[in-house]
Amino acid sequence: MGLLFVETLPGPKVFKCKFCKVDSASHDAIVSKDFHGRYGRAYLFKKVVNISLGPTEDRQLMTGLHTVNDIYCSSCQQMLGWRYEKAYCDSQKYKEGKYILEKSRVLKEGW
Ligand SMILES: [Zn+2]
Repeated sequence: MGLLFVETLPGPKVFKCKFCKVDSASHDAIVSKDFHGRYGRAYLFKKVVNISLGPTEDRQLMTGLHTVNDIYCSSCQQMLGWRYEKAYCDSQKYKEGKYILEKSRVLKEGW
C-alpha cells in the first residue's frame, strides 16, 4: 500500500470513520436522519469523502428495489454504508447519487 490521499472536511461538525477516524461526511451534507441501515439507524448524505465503491448490485430495500453500491472507507476498507445508484420507484428517485452512512459505523466529532 502506498500513501493514501485523505480529504479533510471543514468543521466543526464532521462524521468520521469509526475504525480509522478519517473524515467521512460533513454535517451540512445530511439530507435525512430518518433512515435504517443494516445495523440500525442510518443517515442519508448528499456527499461523502474518503470512500471507495463496491460492485453495483440490485437490492430489495424496505422502500423497494434499488441499484446500490456498498461504500467502504478508502483508508481502512471497512464497510460504512451504501450509495443509491438507481431507484425504480418515482417517489424514491431523490435518493439517486446519495449515500447512506450507518450510524453505528461513524463517529460524530465537534458536537
Ligand atoms: Zn476507516
